[in-house]
Amino acid sequence: MLLEKTLRTPADLAEAGLIASSRQTDLDKVAARYAVAITPTSAALIDPADPADPIARQFLPDMAELAAGVDEMADPIGDGLHSPVPGIVHRYPDRVLLMLTHTCATYCRFCFRRETVGPSGGGNLSSVELEGALGYIAADPGVWEVILSGGDPLILSPRRLAAVMEALGAIDHVKVVRLHTRVPAVDPARITPEMVRALKRSAKAVYVALHANHPRELTAQARAACARLIDAGIPMLSQSVLLRGINDDPGTLGDLMRAFVETRIKPYYLHQADLAPGTAHLRTSLEEGQAVVGALRGHISGLCQPTYVLDIPGGHGKVPVGPCYLSAGKDGQALVSDPWGQPHALSPQQNSRVAG
Ligand code: SF4
Repeated sequence: MLLEKTLRTPADLAEAGLIASSRQTDLDKVAARYAVAITPTSAALIDPADPADPIARQFLPDMAELAAGVDEMADPIGDGLHSPVPGIVHRYPDRVLLMLTHTCATYCRFCFRRETVGPSGGGNLSSVELEGALGYIAADPGVWEVILSGGDPLILSPRRLAAVMEALGAIDHVKVVRLHTRVPAVDPARITPEMVRALKRSAKAVYVALHANHPRELTAQARAACARLIDAGIPMLSQSVLLRGINDDPGTLGDLMRAFVETRIKPYYLHQADLAPGTAHLRTSLEEGQAVVGALRGHISGLCQPTYVLDIPGGHGKVPVGPCYLSAGKDGQALVSDPWGQPHALSPQQNSRVAG
């Protein structure tokens, strides 16, 4: 049965039967440090009898979050270093992030912005700040793409989003607006015709990137919400985080990517989990990640292959870190591995192309 409201405290979680009430006092300490929210749609996907439930692991607080590792950081991808005005992160020359809100429909336990999202994160950008951020975008003709991120931009009202889309539509050099969101999966009812119309308010190319990490999140309702966007001419991409005990095996990850493609969402990024505080229990190593991603190649369609990426800690940008198929043999000859791990010699001509 679908609950009526978003669960926001350990008491709510205990009342809904998602945690034992004996854990409530301990988990209050986690909730005091990092925001908690789980929508009725996501709560309904949890099997409370399964202590390793992959949906629960993403959204239910855990005492392990209070143990921050020495290499973890409050701002793991260096947003603050690249923020010239409130609401803008400008890391790459042709695109900016515009963060309209610090609020999300659900709070992910591995969030890379967990120190800035949530009720204590400052809410929505004020109108003065929004004016400043739009002014910054308008003043830089090099900004080709604006990415609405946050927080979750689709938590905002259609009226507010329409106003932002209209303002971006009036900036000639902005050609693409991309939104990063979890809403179509965690709160599909928010994708109303009015919301779709708001996103279509400008004549720019609009893309929506859906964040989901487990195939169970692509419910019939989530797929229908995505269809409302796609049928309106808004292409969708996926982004997922590789997470220990959630999707770090080839079967689950492959099913997730296939579920995206079946929903007409092109798999885009698979993120290595960032060094956010208190998230070590959910993080894999890069070596483990390469093995899982490598196991997809040759086994599921090329359409289903995401790019495995690492945001270099400290704000140095994002790079692909998937498996490499080129190597040198004993005699120095260049080799290429096939999807099943068998090496094959490259011809001298192919090798010089690789080297060049
Ligand atoms: S939806 Fe995104 S910004 Fe919000 S808590 Fe999850 S990862 Fe963080």
